[in-house]
Amino acid sequence: MAQPEVYDAQRLSHAYIFTAQDPEEGLREALRLAAAAVCTGPEPVPCGSCRACRKVREGIHPDVMRIGRRADDKGRKKREIAVDQIRQLARDAVVLPNEAKRKVYLIEEADKMNLAAQNAALKLLEEPPPGVIFILCAENAQALLPTVRSRCVEIHGNGQRGAPDEVGLRLAREYVETVAGGSPSALLLWCAGHEGMDNRAAVSFVDSGMTLLADMLCGREADPGLGQAGLRRLLALLERCAGYLQVNVGVKHIFGLLAVGAVESSGNRG
Ligand SMILES: [Zn+2]
Repeated sequence: MAQPEVYDAQRLSHAYIFTAQDPEEGLREALRLAAAAVCTGPEPVPCGSCRACRKVREGIHPDVMRIGRRADDKGRKKREIAVDQIRQLARDAVVLPNEAKRKVYLIEEADKMNLAAQNAALKLLEEPPPGVIFILCAENAQALLPTVRSRCVEIHGNGQRGAPDEVGLRLAREYVETVAGGSPSALLLWCAGHEGMDNRAAVSFVDSGMTLLADMLCGREADPGLGQAGLRRLLALLERCAGYLQVNVGVKHIFGLLAVGAVESSGNRG
């Protein structure tokens, strides 16, 4: 990460996903965010020099908990993060913090949570205890349930939120706004006008769209009028398209899906 990110302590979201090719880099940035959440120094946080920041650095802050794969009796890391670890976290999360204003749970290799663990995590993310921040580190965010991802702000390894390219993001905005506009014919026209793009551009567009929708669900971006249920449906549709693009389904077909599948997101608000 070229430029360490600074945070506005008042505006922290309750859940983040850090993805990085290099897990150590992702963890470093996740710990910076954890420090930002408990820092007692002046803004912008983390100040890096207060007692809380120092404790996070040394791994001894009582309100910053790290959860990861357990070791088996031979000292090898188990394959998965088990559901009882997340249940234990849930019990702990309702207890007030020891010394900071907030409690932070940092889940390392969150993409190693098995399905039961992810579902338990989802419950927490849906109704987070007040003052608690969850930070999920993942090498591959695609391994997380779309419903889990949609409740988190995603930060990618290069330090920029979402890091979408400009064109992809602009198209994603256009698409979401067209869906929100509620006119099926306008949507068909828009999709038909873009079905000629190459696979790479389509991947970037779909990725940008998922990040944008996740931000809208978290309130980081204004909802153009789809409502939570509509945003969720549209996100699920884009997730499906992202999966198809990975197995080289044609771009034209994807845009067909984006046109037809989205009509229900705009038609049935709630
Ligand atoms: Zn500090």
